[in-house]
Amino acid sequence: MPGFAQNLDSLLWLQHAAGVVLFGGFALMLVAEMLAPATGARWDLRRLAHGGQNMLLWAIGIVVVSLVFGGTIWLLLQWMQFRRIGVLYFLPLPFWLHAILAFALLDASDYIFHRLSHNVRWLWLLHAVHHSDPQMDVTTNLRQHPLHIIPTELWRLLACAAIGVPAWVFLIHEILNLGFANLHHAAVRWPRWIDTAFSWLLITPRMHWSHHSPDMARTNSNYGMLLSLWDRAFGSLTPPVDDAPRFGLRALESPRWHSAWGMLLTPWRARKYPEL
Ligand SMILES: [Zn+2]
Repeated sequence: MPGFAQNLDSLLWLQHAAGVVLFGGFALMLVAEMLAPATGARWDLRRLAHGGQNMLLWAIGIVVVSLVFGGTIWLLLQWMQFRRIGVLYFLPLPFWLHAILAFALLDASDYIFHRLSHNVRWLWLLHAVHHSDPQMDVTTNLRQHPLHIIPTELWRLLACAAIGVPAWVFLIHEILNLGFANLHHAAVRWPRWIDTAFSWLLITPRMHWSHHSPDMARTNSNYGMLLSLWDRAFGSLTPPVDDAPRFGLRALESPRWHSAWGMLLTPWRARKYPEL
């Protein structure tokens, strides 16, 4: 085990970095949305109200998740690393290969859970809250139903235990995930060359915009957050969308679905909608 992985200061530094990427990335994307807005993305009162409701849902989610997990996720990850729990610890791997495989397999497990969230009915009803946003911007990233965050975190803990993901690898993956989530949802007019240069390896913002399309063939594609490898390997990749895409879900277009209260109730209200 490398010295720095056991060094609590390094782990604390990584935890702080995750916070900086989440909040700093959010602030940076807000500025980018003002300087280079995506086609049709204008700042007005309606958009401010929309962002406020998304952020209110996020605040409720933070309270719920803190009540359910407290600091146990982080403690469990460190305990699993200390006890060397997971398949990779049983293999005679050099340290660097263990880290790379743990990172890639954790990313694959996120892909699988996201795909399940689109294909298992109760998970989809919860995840649909994230997809129903008709005006995608950086606040859409925060639009997650609290009851979807709980199974997501449980899945990630189980994945780490099965794979053997060291706590510091989890944190690096989390930092990149948070950074990419801000990039993917921001209403920024990204240069086209980003897709040409990176889509062979990474999920670019326009590839994720495709995932937020009301066209269900596109919604049910591009499940990756970081690597495009899994969508490519499992046949769920669609090309990036154009500069003025439409977002949301056709069954959930009315304003009643977009208040924080409406979003909290979406899984119950929308369960009778066969078209969803
Ligand atoms: Zn999705």
